[in-house]
Amino acid sequence: MHGKTVSERTCPKCGRTYTERPATARDGSGPICPDCGTREALESIGVGADEQDRIIATIHRHQA
Ligand SMILES: [Zn+2]
Repeated sequence: MHGKTVSERTCPKCGRTYTERPATARDGSGPICPDCGTREALESIGVGADEQDRIIATIHRHQA
């Protein structure tokens, strides 16, 4: 295999480099990583930071 088949992006919110499909920031600041997209969505429905971490950890376990 030659060349990159996936484009790497850097998330402006957490600084992580990611290759997953980007999410759209609610404030319109552009593409963000899926984790931050999930966080923003959870935050918008009143989920606290601790619970956000738990949910994101659960998502990652299912992806692994
Ligand atoms: Zn991020």
